Amino acid sequence: MADTKYIFVTGGVSSSLGKGIIAASLAKLLQARGYKTTIQKLDPYINVDPGTLNPYEHGECFVTEDGAETDLDLGHYERFLNVNTSQKNNVTTGRIYQSVIEKERRGEFLGKTVQVVPHITNEIKERIQIFGKSGEFDIVITEIGGTVGDIESLPYIEAVRQLKWELGDENALVIHLTLVPFLAAAGELKTKPSQHSIKTLMESGIKADILVCRTEHDLGDEIRRKLALFCNVKQEAVIQSIDASTIYDVPNMMLEEGLDTVTLKKLGLPQDGEPDLQLWNGFLKRHKNPKHEVTIGLIGKYVELQDSYKSILEAFIHAGAANEVRVNVESIHSESITEETIQNKIKGLDGVLVAPGFGERGIEGKIEAVQYARENKLPFLGICLGMQMAVIEFARNVLQLDRANSTEMDADTPHPVISLMQEQKDITHMGGTMRLGAWECDIKEGSKAHAIYGTTRISERHRHRYEFNNEYAAQLEQAGMRTTGINPETGLVEIVELEDHPWFIGVQYHPEYKSTVATPHPLFIAFVKAAREYSLAKEK
Ligand code: GLN
Repeated sequence: MADTKYIFVTGGVSSSLGKGIIAASLAKLLQARGYKTTIQKLDPYINVDPGTLNPYEHGECFVTEDGAETDLDLGHYERFLNVNTSQKNNVTTGRIYQSVIEKERRGEFLGKTVQVVPHITNEIKERIQIFGKSGEFDIVITEIGGTVGDIESLPYIEAVRQLKWELGDENALVIHLTLVPFLAAAGELKTKPSQHSIKTLMESGIKADILVCRTEHDLGDEIRRKLALFCNVKQEAVIQSIDASTIYDVPNMMLEEGLDTVTLKKLGLPQDGEPDLQLWNGFLKRHKNPKHEVTIGLIGKYVELQDSYKSILEAFIHAGAANEVRVNVESIHSESITEETIQNKIKGLDGVLVAPGFGERGIEGKIEAVQYARENKLPFLGICLGMQMAVIEFARNVLQLDRANSTEMDADTPHPVISLMQEQKDITHMGGTMRLGAWECDIKEGSKAHAIYGTTRISERHRHRYEFNNEYAAQLEQAGMRTTGINPETGLVEIVELEDHPWFIGVQYHPEYKSTVATPHPLFIAFVKAAREYSLAKEK
């Protein structure tokens, strides 16, 4: 018998049904029952990783400690489980093929014809079983991206079929997520799309063990019975996933539906007592019963798509709960901000966050927002590009350095206050070549950052190419922009803050990636607190 148990999550009928949240919720319940659980996402696209994707395509790119640029679902996994993921937790078709082709070039296939089956499927199976082999986990949940029936998902589905056969039913199970739509005209929930999607899965030789049904209305006994009969699962294995007001409710909803108990029963694992969700429920209680309210402006250029800034939005939820404050995030398109519109746009805000980003579009609006926050003593947090914009704004408007800029936006600027380091200048490939993953940072004593973190050595995750140009450090310091966080290895500036401002901090790294339900991020907690104080002062 294999030691590690494998759970595969597939999706049918439609995309965006929330497979990632269901996988994370089940993992949370299993973890809360004492099982060491991890989650993996297999993505069917051909990009080697999502690092080269525009956020409009699949939303934010999540960065892990080891510097992997990954799917945003890994962010959910970390936020739910409070366990770090790594490159191994996200695999794309591009990466699978890259590795098989490299093996072929090395001659590892000994003259054989290299084919989707068995070579690509073997590579997929190996990537899935890597966690079992390490012995670190009792249960591995693998989410297959895309929808069953898609051409590009076929090798993954075939790999799942083979693994299920090899490992045996007691060691591997398949959860299929479908949509049960409500037809308003008929006043009925419809099971046919689910039947078809289960049938498609069967054509690939896979029988689902558990059916999770996304629905807007309660399924009721009759629909559950029908789904069980026609989709070939036990009735207790028909799990309803009704729309939730927050994703953080889903673990409790799945507990109520018995998703964890059916899973454990099918895998032959003991299920003593109830999962320990005390900490989780404490968070939920604070999240749902805020005593105050603040509004923070999120200035970015991908604001049309909520998923583009996923980790930032979630970090505000964690920090809001920690402060018992509801944080309303108002997305403001940086391109809509000009000298004329700024007053109107920023009116009513208790804090401004200038978001990460790439390229020139919308940066003048970001600079305008920084200036407003600086001059009006509005709490300000700049993340990555947002920090760079804070430096540029200060250089232009306080130091009077005409046309100061980042060389990313203006290669010929007379004052490159943000520029490329030598190592980056020689890079020609875009994929995976930024400064990525966890880097240490020394915090200066007596700084605001020091008070917030309560320590002088931190580690935070990065994802950028351009850096604060140390040639300007002395000038900026003298005028009141303090460099309070320094990378001990490279001397690069990671944190800037303003002396003469109640709360103005720019960070070159991404604190949002490390905020979880169990450990809300100190910078976000402090920022929300500062916004709360600002709003109180306004009321007076
Ligand atoms: N475009 C900037 C850089 O590459 C900032 C990147 C970011 O905000 N993640 O340095």
